[in-house]
Amino acid sequence: MEDRFGHRISYLRVSITDRCNERCTYCMPQELQEWLPRVGILSFEETLRLVGIAALLGVKKVRVTGGEPLTRRGVLQFVQALAQIAGLDDIGISTNGTLLAREIAPRKSMAVALREAGVRTVNISLDTLNRDDYHAITGRDYLIEVLRGIDCAVQAGFELIKLNCVLVRGRAEDQLKPLIDFAAEKKLLLRFIELMPVSTSDVLSDSNFLPVREAQRQIEAHYGSLMPEPQFRTNGPATYYQLPGRTQRIGFIGAMTNLHFCESCNKLRLTCDGKLRPCLGSYLEFDIMKVMRAGASDAELERFFLDVVERKPQQHDFRENYQPGRKMVAIGG
Ligand code: SAM
Ligand code: SF4
Repeated sequence: MEDRFGHRISYLRVSITDRCNERCTYCMPQELQEWLPRVGILSFEETLRLVGIAALLGVKKVRVTGGEPLTRRGVLQFVQALAQIAGLDDIGISTNGTLLAREIAPRKSMAVALREAGVRTVNISLDTLNRDDYHAITGRDYLIEVLRGIDCAVQAGFELIKLNCVLVRGRAEDQLKPLIDFAAEKKLLLRFIELMPVSTSDVLSDSNFLPVREAQRQIEAHYGSLMPEPQFRTNGPATYYQLPGRTQRIGFIGAMTNLHFCESCNKLRLTCDGKLRPCLGSYLEFDIMKVMRAGASDAELERFFLDVVERKPQQHDFRENYQPGRKMVAIGG
């Protein structure tokens, strides 16, 4: 699938729930906490049918997300079935990490079970190593569980584990070094993500926005000049740098300040309530659940995918006074 601007779509982010066991301030502000009713959520069978069609159209990678995907019952059977879909060669999951250490069978963690089910890569959100700050950011005192979850993920032998830290001014600065050193110790790939105006319009303000460039300057003040690694990519929009004198690389996702951010976009999103979204930072979304539940054939659903790709915008609207229509937790970051 290729759009009008030459974006080749090979990556589908699939949100399987809008529910979450945390309440990150930038993702799910307190006032926005009604869950979608069950009937409004795609069943796993429906989701698998749509992913199968996407795979026929050239999607190679699926990332399962949410909300917190590990809170949905049956997630293991779902990823196992995903891994059987012909044409998909990479299945990843994005998680806040709180449930990775959960024992789901005697001496078997959720992380190990996910790996056995066919998940190859895991992205784990970690904004801070300070327990009080973690509580303040996520609304929950789960840092210890997350750190245990990270260890279980390491033991599970995933091909790649990424740690994602959202840059919030006033909170992130003193965590840059601890997070970099933590990632080095655990041999994980750390990325810093610019805050995006998802969920409500006051998520992003001049006072809490910390641009990637500024975080880089602070990192360089401590570690020395970062060395760009333009040839290193992980299927997403991050740019990577080598830390001087170390074998460690770190990534930056400058969704707001990198004006070339959208050029290499290869993504479509499927929300848990069955909307196809061609871009995270655009109001466009198309109700494929409705069409499917009305009895559409596979050929009609294929056409639907192609029509959505046809409408993919050249770039996101985040810099154009974008007022979010839906909270991030219900889109799937
Ligand atoms: N619950 C899982 C998690 O926290 O990783 C998966 C869903 S979460 C919506 C996916 C990613 O989006 C997380 O890394 C989170 O930090 C990021 N995110 C949420 N709100 C954001 C915002 N306003 N700006 C930038 N990233 C955001
Ligand atoms: Fe939940 Fe992830 Fe959003 Fe935090 S970022 S509220 S963990 S979905």
